[in-house]
Amino acid sequence: MAAICHCTMCRRANAAPAVAWAMFREPQVAFLQDEPASYRSSAESRRGFCRVCGTQISFTADYLPGLIDITIGSLDQPELLAPTLHYWESERLPWLHLADDLPQFPEFPPIA
Ligand SMILES: [Zn+2]
Repeated sequence: MAAICHCTMCRRANAAPAVAWAMFREPQVAFLQDEPASYRSSAESRRGFCRVCGTQISFTADYLPGLIDITIGSLDQPELLAPTLHYWESERLPWLHLADDLPQFPEFPPIA
């Protein structure tokens, strides 16, 4: 799943109005140079970041076992992963308007 999250926690963690994420099964992801540093961003989740430049890289949560979200904006070729939906629309900034027709979910979307 590739999607744009509008939740308050992603917004603050990334200092961005919304964050594009791509979700993978953990075995699909390999960090080639160094594992991200991480911090517990809530009681049930962790956010990974580059220990050199601070770029936000990943999100994992107890309620998403075996899955890892990667920030599309941190990838070398972000153009290859186009988001297919918006989620946490209930927390979208009112001045953020994106010209797309993607489905919108008020909170977390169903995971296929
Ligand atoms: Zn979020």
